[in-house]
Amino acid sequence: MKSKNNLYKYFYIENYGCQMNVSDSEIITSILLNHGFFLSEKIETTDIVLLNACSIREKAELSLTRKLEQLKFLKKKNKILFGITGCFSKKLKEFFLKEKKVDFFVEPDFYKKIPNIIQYISNDKIIPPSFFSKNRKETYEDIIPFSDNKKKITKFLSITRGCNNMCTFCIVPFTRGREKSSNPYSIIKECKRLYKIGYKEITLLGQNVDSYQYIIKNKSIKKDMMVKFSDLLSLLATEVPFMRIRFSTSNPHDMSESVLNVISKYPNICKHIHLPVQSGSNKILKLMNRKYSREKYINLIEKIRNIIPECSISHDIMTGFCGENEKDHQDTISLMNEIKYNYGYMFSYSPRPGTFSYKKLKDDVPKHIKKERLKEIIDLQREHSLFRMKEFIGKTQEILIEGISKRNNKNWYGRNTQNIIVVFPKKNFLSIGDTINVKILNNTSATLIGEID
Ligand code: SF4
Repeated sequence: MKSKNNLYKYFYIENYGCQMNVSDSEIITSILLNHGFFLSEKIETTDIVLLNACSIREKAELSLTRKLEQLKFLKKKNKILFGITGCFSKKLKEFFLKEKKVDFFVEPDFYKKIPNIIQYISNDKIIPPSFFSKNRKETYEDIIPFSDNKKKITKFLSITRGCNNMCTFCIVPFTRGREKSSNPYSIIKECKRLYKIGYKEITLLGQNVDSYQYIIKNKSIKKDMMVKFSDLLSLLATEVPFMRIRFSTSNPHDMSESVLNVISKYPNICKHIHLPVQSGSNKILKLMNRKYSREKYINLIEKIRNIIPECSISHDIMTGFCGENEKDHQDTISLMNEIKYNYGYMFSYSPRPGTFSYKKLKDDVPKHIKKERLKEIIDLQREHSLFRMKEFIGKTQEILIEGISKRNNKNWYGRNTQNIIVVFPKKNFLSIGDTINVKILNNTSATLIGEID
């Protein structure tokens, strides 16, 4: 189908939130380009504005609301179509519809319908309700995500969509639906294609990559074969041996020892695991429905460190969840002290409309306490990050060069296998995308500083 009219031809897309959204925007861009639309680099020169929303955190939702407010004048002046794609709560949708700020909404399972939606609107037709009948099997494995040729080094690739866990604070199971995994052959094919056109690193994405599973039906021997996440990692490590492979996010409940053994076995699988803990208190983990205990989590960290000693570990921690008292907070502090993560992402709890905690639990930790506890864990993490960074001093690290340092254009920046940023002086014989050994001489809490070894 081609864009029929001249009114809505150019689109502009902007992301709010997580890596999954970056990957989704590339899928949406490909779908629209394949249907005769054109990508606009500036919001001022477009006919359609797509804002790819994320409702997991209140912050992303607030930025999106602010952006729509800022763009109000553009809508009136230029007759621009505004669409919201991605994760958004029912409450947010109702608000925007009431305020007449947005022309259409598209949930993650319906991106392929965006060209038709634009056509309906441009022809002043009403979209029939049956148009959005549930399609819970969509994986987009048949779509080649759009590649911005300017940044041709690292790429995100979704391997699972949705989530079957029901963490009580999380909107994902409601906005992205049940979990579905992409065909391993299409993942391998896409990685090979990306490698051929110059990409050096791939990050496999999913809300919970460890529960990846795909059943391959073998009609000739009448037997089905189950491909699990560890199998997928092994396959990729051997099929694209010169490509770095990362993945995110892992769920402590689902991470298996076989995945750890595969990471340890293959040099091109990066030695970094992002393992959100959320809280160090068993009482809070239960209220969050996280399905693991503090003890099991610590046990898993021990396994990781035994099997992959050089592995870096990062976390997500949510402070101030419903019912969190000082003892629960201290349990989180003691867990952090025990593990000493390399880095982490820390937030304070804000109820997301539509979730279990929003409907059934009391948001009873006062704002100022949430703020104090958040500051305490951020400060503690900074100390731990410094401690972990010092462990690299004097060591030689293999760095994939990703670009020129923003602070000093005489330096390159890249990352080691542990996903730590490393900065070092530029040399003419090297270019972006090369891999080079760098000796680490110094550090801050977030960056390693070195020189070519
Ligand atoms: S594992 Fe929990 S927090 Fe993560 S996406 Fe699924 S429901 Fe949300």
